[in-house]
Amino acid sequence: MTRPLVSIENLTVAYPLGRRILGDADMLKAVNNVSLDIPRGGFVGLVGESGSGKTTLGRAILKAAPITGGQIIYDNGTDQFDVGAMSKRQEKAYRKHAQLIFQDPYAALSPRMTVRDIIAEPIELLGLTKSRAETDEMVRDIASKCRLNLEHLRRYPHAFSGGQRQRISIARTLAARPKFVVADECVAALDVSIQADILNLLKSLQRDLDLTILFISHDLSVVAHVCDHVAVIYLGEIVEAGPTRQLFANPQHDYTKTLLAAIPSLDPDRKSRIPAFERGRVDVTKG
Ligand code: ADP
Ligand code: MG
Repeated sequence: MTRPLVSIENLTVAYPLGRRILGDADMLKAVNNVSLDIPRGGFVGLVGESGSGKTTLGRAILKAAPITGGQIIYDNGTDQFDVGAMSKRQEKAYRKHAQLIFQDPYAALSPRMTVRDIIAEPIELLGLTKSRAETDEMVRDIASKCRLNLEHLRRYPHAFSGGQRQRISIARTLAARPKFVVADECVAALDVSIQADILNLLKSLQRDLDLTILFISHDLSVVAHVCDHVAVIYLGEIVEAGPTRQLFANPQHDYTKTLLAAIPSLDPDRKSRIPAFERGRVDVTKG
């Protein structure tokens, strides 16, 4: 086994609960003593109900939530980052490796910028190209990989549907060619009919671009559709993790069993669950 791309060890992210004049404030452990390996090239699901700490864990890996205990190591064989202890210079370098796909494609795109400029922005911010022509080439390349019509690059976001906007948002996230992305509820805001499109796009991008993905969702059936591994988080703690098929076929923890039982479209006979997922059916069970 090679080293995981991201290894998380005993991670705790705690927020102060209210204010205290004297003494320490009580702390809410949004993520509590979490250990998780994300293998290179993996499509790893992080599933749990609202408030369980999914976003906080994803943000911590991207250095966007305070690490109060434990360690996150990113190591692609050439570059290593100790996420909780980076210099400003390392942080900038790390941003080329690890990025976030937003949940809400409406909020994520500036209405005053053309699609071309939206996708070009991270390339320019990270100084990846030397000329506008070179930037344009990168923009066109990622746009076509995200199945966007190149004619559309001149338009503004309001001209597009939710699904198209999410593809634009994904193109922007991947424009600077990160190797690791956190996709946080990236289909939750979309119609069911469009969800499968975006999930299939992510799958193909993962292969084309050699991406490693942490896929956050409250929706087990969506996770089953795309993820090769799953971690189940409950009240800030990972209660169970493993290969998707194995975990779904034979859940060990009561919380996982409850989540599985809450998917209404599944046959109560557990054995028949897996074939239903393999047919590629995507259900939306808002949690
Ligand atoms: P999820 O993404 O699974 O819905 P979150 O990670 O957003 O869960 O939140 C986990 C817990 O941490 C919640 O109780 C939430 O209220 C709390 N929390 C998240 N961010 C902050 C913050 N910046 N300050 C204080 N509490 C927070
Ligand atoms: Mg969240």
